[in-house]
Amino acid sequence: MSAGEQDLVPTGQYANPGGRRGTRPRPATAAGDVDTLAGMPPTTLLLAAPRGFCAGVDRAVLIVEKALEAYGAPVYVRHEIVHNTHVVESLRREGAVFVEDETEVPEGAVIVFSAHGSPPEAFANSKRLGHTLIDATCPLVTKVHHEARRYARDRMDIVMIGHEGHQEVIGTMGQAPRSIRLVETPEDVDALDYGADANVAYITQTTLSMDETSAVVDRLRQRFPLLHQPKNDDICYATQNRQDAVKDLTSQCDVILVVGSQTSSNSKRLVEVSRDRGTPAYLIDSADDIDPAWVDGADTVGLTSGASAPEVLVEGVIEWFRAQGLQKVRTVTVVDEDVEFAMPSVLARRLQQSG
Ligand code: SF4
Repeated sequence: MSAGEQDLVPTGQYANPGGRRGTRPRPATAAGDVDTLAGMPPTTLLLAAPRGFCAGVDRAVLIVEKALEAYGAPVYVRHEIVHNTHVVESLRREGAVFVEDETEVPEGAVIVFSAHGSPPEAFANSKRLGHTLIDATCPLVTKVHHEARRYARDRMDIVMIGHEGHQEVIGTMGQAPRSIRLVETPEDVDALDYGADANVAYITQTTLSMDETSAVVDRLRQRFPLLHQPKNDDICYATQNRQDAVKDLTSQCDVILVVGSQTSSNSKRLVEVSRDRGTPAYLIDSADDIDPAWVDGADTVGLTSGASAPEVLVEGVIEWFRAQGLQKVRTVTVVDEDVEFAMPSVLARRLQQSG
């Protein structure tokens, strides 16, 4: 059941329910410039809340904007600051230069490390090159880094549950590369060559699906009865809340659309959560990606967005449906969020000095 529901939301007044602010990209699709449905439009569009920007993404985007303000362009950013094409393009237009490796950045330049976290050697390289380094790693990812280092100091074998190649996984495994093994599935756990009495601890990527992770943790417990686990779950509040909101929508919707980029782990998990409950779901970068066939014949459509997707893109999707003749838009809220993270001290000081 929903914790709360609000009635019709007037056009143009969609607060960002998962964060304090949006970013500036314009809606990708204007009403009147859309593919049309063959049949009747859906009667109702249900908006999940919370959705969109989490506190870590909000902070990371703000860090780049404030760094541009305080130091001037160019400000280099190691990796996409958050996994959203529109956010990255918008910051690029403001003067951010995205690189995959800190060693590509000129000596003495200003560099921001992305919200996903970076391995220690990236920090060492930046220091050697005399960069002004501003670390936008989400504090909840930093917490997992601390756990990894602590387990490694205690000489434990660490199992990280996560997706190979994801930037957060690279950053976390880099904290203790000789002690951490990556698993994605229960079968990967079976393949670990530790003995049953091994001193094993696990950590997880922050943006996984709860259901998928619990199957892997169950298998770890079966194999390693002495398994150590983090005091608090590593899957972050924003991931959990957005998944709970989608679960809530699945019982009320014929189909769910998730606004987010293909590179966004938490957005892809939202699609999976819906499909696992039998409700078709599709990931779209913006309204431009909607295939009318997905929603043709649907009475109620659900709409949410990943933690790195700006609200303006959700508004674009709402406009798309209005252009088709949609009548009702309703927000379904499962929980209110009020999490905020402070600016890194190096940037806060600089902003203070520049008045
Ligand atoms: S999804 Fe969670 S861990 Fe990732 S940036 Fe947002 S708050 Fe931080």
